[in-house]
Amino acid sequence: MAGRRVYAPHGRIAFVLFGFDGLFSAMKGCCTWIFDAGFAEELTPNQVFYAIIEKTAEAGGCSGRRMFLRGKQACACTRAKGVSMRIDIPDYAAEVLQRLNDSGFSAFVVGGCLRDILLGRRPGDWDICTSALPEESRACFADKQIVDTGARHGTIGVVFGKAICVEVTTYRIDGRYIDGRHPQQVTFTRDLYRDLARRDFTMNAIAWHPKTGFVDPFGGRQAICEKRISTVGDPRRRFAEDALRILRGLRFASVLGFSLEPETIRGMEEGKKGLTRISAERIQAEFSRLLLGSQADPVLCDFAAILREAIPDLQPVKVSGLLPELSLRLAALFPERTEETLRRLRYDRETIRTAAALARLNREKPPADRREIQKWLRREGRHTMELYMAARGRTRELQDIFDSGACWSLRQLAVSGRDLIESGIPPGAQIGRILERLLDSVIEGKAENRREALLSMVVEFETELQEETGERGKRQ
Ligand code: ATP
Ligand code: MG
Repeated sequence: MAGRRVYAPHGRIAFVLFGFDGLFSAMKGCCTWIFDAGFAEELTPNQVFYAIIEKTAEAGGCSGRRMFLRGKQACACTRAKGVSMRIDIPDYAAEVLQRLNDSGFSAFVVGGCLRDILLGRRPGDWDICTSALPEESRACFADKQIVDTGARHGTIGVVFGKAICVEVTTYRIDGRYIDGRHPQQVTFTRDLYRDLARRDFTMNAIAWHPKTGFVDPFGGRQAICEKRISTVGDPRRRFAEDALRILRGLRFASVLGFSLEPETIRGMEEGKKGLTRISAERIQAEFSRLLLGSQADPVLCDFAAILREAIPDLQPVKVSGLLPELSLRLAALFPERTEETLRRLRYDRETIRTAAALARLNREKPPADRREIQKWLRREGRHTMELYMAARGRTRELQDIFDSGACWSLRQLAVSGRDLIESGIPPGAQIGRILERLLDSVIEGKAENRREALLSMVVEFETELQEETGERGKRQ
């Protein structure tokens, strides 16, 4: 087994495992099992790696290797003797590193993308940090489209293809924080360590380069192994500088299923007043992600007092039984004054409309039969009803309506406004009202959705409506 190379079948990371003899004997055969299991179940290479470490620790650890056994959780650094790790970064990220290096600057992949890779998750974006000043970075990508994403803070976006923008940020030291959110000024530095030190959590303060490997001065990888969230440095100071970090921390706890270290929690509690200064847009963005996380319930429950500083209307309601859909969960959390609350949080119109409709429907008696479902469909629209019914495990009933082609909307009606005008009804508001009545009749089962059948009812409805409204249209 010694010197055996193991490559990822599909993953982005490949592990090269070598010098296994010692490790093997210490693990009492665990390794073979893990490899078999790893490939049989097609674990990501990352999972294989952590499985090896965990099994090793379960088997009593390995003397002389950097193994840690913390409670039930086992972890080890990738520097464990005999194990090395290679991260396959996308070509465009490699190109950014290469170009900066070729011009004499140091550059690293940094932050959340590494955290995600180490967790076997697909990173949303790849961030690069560099010793190059913004104008120096710009010169390295003179042939590329550059987006000024945060030039003031040393960030430029380098565009690759149609949809990829890699953020390249100069190593920086944040100055004094003035408003609980933004540093008064930022100072650029050539020192990677100082750049990592200004980052929020240890798991986000890791850098990596294909030649150098990891730069992890705050034990970020170990925190990831232990599923632990801790600030870089004193939590009180870090949250006082920027209270958005409190929400980021809670969001990470919910999405990644990590636990917050006690000191970090204390820092959050002490710094929670700072949340009143965070913009509604930022609160909304973090809160939405938190709400869709696998651990949303414990986070909402355990940190309700902190979250209420940002969202005073928040009630600790359980949401994880609901589908991971934002409007559904928002409707459950804000059953009263839904629209007002979501408007204050600057949600988009569609989300507000759907969540408010769902909150209202939740207060009503559910539709009893197919006919009633059709009526609700007509009133609330397809999207809202799909969510409502799915939340109640009644998707099948809705699907049956769609599959049968049953009519529940004006669009499906066998006659249109034009047909009514052609049949002699004067154009105007009356047309809409007659169509509505025709649809009522079809849904009630009083009329068939056929052109002739519906047209034969038009005169009757016209007269009815004229009597009701006292209006008299001029027949053509
Ligand atoms: P995600 O992309 O999933 O939202 P992320 O951690 O990558 O998570 P980004 O907004 O992409 O978040 O930020 C990239 C990196 O910048 C972070 O990993 C962290 O190192 C740093 N960072 C982001 N926001 C802050 C902040 N408010 N304070 C300090 N460092 C931050
Ligand atoms: Mg990111």
